[in-house]
Amino acid sequence: MLKTKKYQFWFATGAQDLYGEDCLREVEEHSKVIVEELNKSKNLSYEVVLKPTLINQASIRRCFNEANADELCAGVITWMHTFSPAKMWILGLQEFRKPLLHLHTQFNRDIPYDTIDMDFMNLNQSAHGDREFGHMVSRLGIERKVVVGHWSEENVQKRIASWMRTAIGVIESSHVRVVRVGDNMRNVAVTEGDKVEAQVKFGWEIDAYNVTDVAEYVQAVSAADVNALTDEYYEMYDILLEGRDEKEFREHVKVQAAIELGFRKFLEENDYHAVVTNFQMLSGLKQLPGLAMQRLMADGYGFGAEGDWKTAALLRVMKIMTEGLCNGTSFMEDYTYHLEPGKEVILQSHMLEVCPSIANVKPAIKVNPLTMGNREDPARLVFTTKPGNGVACSLVDLGTRFRLIINDVTTLKQEIPMPKLPVASALWKPEPNLITGAEAWILSGGAHHTAFSLDLTSEQMVDWGAMMGIECVVIDKDTTIRSLKNELRWNKAAFR
Ligand code: MN
Repeated sequence: MLKTKKYQFWFATGAQDLYGEDCLREVEEHSKVIVEELNKSKNLSYEVVLKPTLINQASIRRCFNEANADELCAGVITWMHTFSPAKMWILGLQEFRKPLLHLHTQFNRDIPYDTIDMDFMNLNQSAHGDREFGHMVSRLGIERKVVVGHWSEENVQKRIASWMRTAIGVIESSHVRVVRVGDNMRNVAVTEGDKVEAQVKFGWEIDAYNVTDVAEYVQAVSAADVNALTDEYYEMYDILLEGRDEKEFREHVKVQAAIELGFRKFLEENDYHAVVTNFQMLSGLKQLPGLAMQRLMADGYGFGAEGDWKTAALLRVMKIMTEGLCNGTSFMEDYTYHLEPGKEVILQSHMLEVCPSIANVKPAIKVNPLTMGNREDPARLVFTTKPGNGVACSLVDLGTRFRLIINDVTTLKQEIPMPKLPVASALWKPEPNLITGAEAWILSGGAHHTAFSLDLTSEQMVDWGAMMGIECVVIDKDTTIRSLKNELRWNKAAFR
């Protein structure tokens, strides 16, 4: 389902017409080599497209406006090969509305000590020209990414690649559509928020439907389709009967297959990319959507439980940013702690809905009672999570503004089995450690629900948040409570 465009990034080299034609020909030749090598490197997931060298206000303005209008262009990479007087860039930059990366590099890696002369210096002066350009972008207050280093270095290419994913998250965020099947869980605060402001800031459209509207789709699914999908489940996943009658078990699984097919059709017909449910509002559904939501998430849909549309939309954006990567991205919830000194970890899970993209084992289907709500025992996928480094993100509404809280976390190999736990889970250690990490999270007002990814970094999420113009708080290995409290205090003045 997760189908995004074949996005491209434009490469715009800055110069000026003072240097003469020979020099500009060389500039163009160098840019061509860089773009070809970047595309050949296999480090970038998206194509870089070379644009004509920009030498005056008119060509700069035209390039940026064409980038605005081009549906496949997800951002522009600029580089000043020579000096490019920045007053020429003002109008184009002011009119540009897409992500901007300033690649601060130069064509030659080394100083040619034996041969360097003034001609060489005048042609290869990025150290000079990129400062003039950077000054203007800073003066205009335009959010951009600066990547420094030789273009042939793998590390530089990987940083460009990482930013490209952020840029696509920015472009795609503007038309994420979330369907709320039922409202926010009664009395819960942290999952609430200003939906108008969310559309202004992020572009998210958040619509509510009666559960019955979607339940009609579920009820309309044919028995043959339900059976076929159930067969597929039985082939794909292990079955953990745990003493339940085989026939009765399959009937429970079939309910989720119908829910998956019904929801999928509803989402497709109405063009929604993320969905929220609420176990308190299930009219017309026999079970809380469990396995069904897990499967939709695995296909790239955003999901939030208990009416949590902020996490659902954020998860959808993160699914888009991680397209083609294989470690996984999921809705998640801080559930319970292991507080043994020195070995503190958080058990992450949810009532049912964890995305199997993060699984490190073949998922298994279980049918178990739900301790909340009044429906029949739902089928769900259970598994443990890949060990690795990831980010847990929570978007909260503070009444006057949104804050994105981002915690670097390490998921651990789950050595000790939890045979009685009927849900998928992860064990993670938040940075800098559980004690400080959880204190910082709570001081920041972070929720129990998160959008979690093993394929994204806090740098990418901070850059995304910056492009959205919202406050971001990072909790990582450098976090101390004193500096965090100051940051929150200062942010209150900075973000109004
Ligand atoms: Mn929850």
